[in-house]
Amino acid sequence: MVEKVMSIKNISDIVLSKGYSPTVFITGVTGQDGSLMIDYLLKNTNSWIIGGARRLSVENHANIKHLENEPRFQLVNFDLTDSHSIYKLMETAKPDYFINFAAQSFVASSWDFARQTWQVNSTGVLDCLEAIRKVKPDCRFYNAGSSEEFGNVTYSPQDENHPLRPRSPYGASKAAARQLIKVYRESYSLYAVQGWLFNHEGVRRGEEFVTRKITKGVVRVVKELKNCNVALNTFKPIELGNVDSKRDWSDAEDMVDAVWRMLNQDTYNLEIASLVLPLVSRSSLPESYYTSGGYSEMMKKLVIPKLKDYVVSSDENHTIRELVGLAFKAAGVEDGYWSGVELVERFVIDRPPFQLALVTINPRFYRPAEIEVLCGNSSAVRKDLGWEPKTSFEQLVKKMVNNDLNLSN
Ligand code: NDP
Repeated sequence: MVEKVMSIKNISDIVLSKGYSPTVFITGVTGQDGSLMIDYLLKNTNSWIIGGARRLSVENHANIKHLENEPRFQLVNFDLTDSHSIYKLMETAKPDYFINFAAQSFVASSWDFARQTWQVNSTGVLDCLEAIRKVKPDCRFYNAGSSEEFGNVTYSPQDENHPLRPRSPYGASKAAARQLIKVYRESYSLYAVQGWLFNHEGVRRGEEFVTRKITKGVVRVVKELKNCNVALNTFKPIELGNVDSKRDWSDAEDMVDAVWRMLNQDTYNLEIASLVLPLVSRSSLPESYYTSGGYSEMMKKLVIPKLKDYVVSSDENHTIRELVGLAFKAAGVEDGYWSGVELVERFVIDRPPFQLALVTINPRFYRPAEIEVLCGNSSAVRKDLGWEPKTSFEQLVKKMVNNDLNLSN
């Protein structure tokens, strides 16, 4: 059966909002975060949402297919490597918010596609900033930064003061984008921010990422164990790289909430809010204040200088080894354990007379330059913007495994 695909508009066919506000443009909506951001805004705001996605020969709209009949959402053909399309988008849609999740987002591929990674993740951001500056300088811009910018860490947990020491072309591209954003914020008073988001996962995570590779792999293995394919010699264990890598994993649904808070620091940061609140009510000031650029003068003086880029993280560290154990447990395999060392280490179960390896190590999955430990300190975003994660690591793994179990039925 051919699945119905969502229609995708040309930029010139964008429909402007009649009554809904603000207008939010989001890139990378076929991915995890972009699609979750749409769901978050539909639920929590009155936004008119335009999602940018590349028109591909084979559509990949699984994460947004539930929006097919959503009246407040439209999908538009958009490529971050085409500066003309960014300008055209800004001129046509005139968004109040521009949330950029589009990226070459897979660290491992960034060594093979270093130039493309730079073009999308760094040059693409520069083009967004230029288009915003020239077309609609009061449009608020968020770019998705990463803990990978910290790279070769000098202390742990990492906070906003940690130096940028990336270890991959991906990390370097995000660090460069961060510097551009800071320069544009300071030079042109743009509301432009970039969070340091630590790893975040969920049921919409791409299958090339290790968490999803594990949860999908666990479901396949458990199914094969049940069907006794083991005896038929068709059984393939899950192959992983460095299982000692430690990461700070959060639920992506919690992260998009933090993104919205970073984009609205004059609402969520009570210190800034107390400065601007008496001024923002349109009725409290003459219309000429707005038409003469007074509002943006207020933003320039009171808000922009106080904006911060925040670390957003669970502040907990877990190894891939732990994730594997929890994922098998969530799928009903309680008796698995790690055995052996280094390259011959395996996650096994005893089924006398056999010992069966469910996970093995393959050095092919090691990174050229590994980051062993990433752990965030998100106390600033919690204190300043009132952000709190809602899902624990264990709940997150369970949620992902359950979803993959359902998909496999
Ligand atoms: P995904 O890989 O799920 O999504 C990336 C999106 O970018 C896809 O929709 C992809 O579209 C789009 N894209 C890629 N290249 C282009 C391009 N040239 N023009 C337009 N769109 C493009 O990533 P996530 O949702 O997980 O992450 C969102 C952002 O957050 C990324 O910038 C990522 O680097 C960053 N980030 C993510 C973290 C995480 O743990 N998830 C951690 C820290 C940062 P297509 O479907 O066409 O390929």
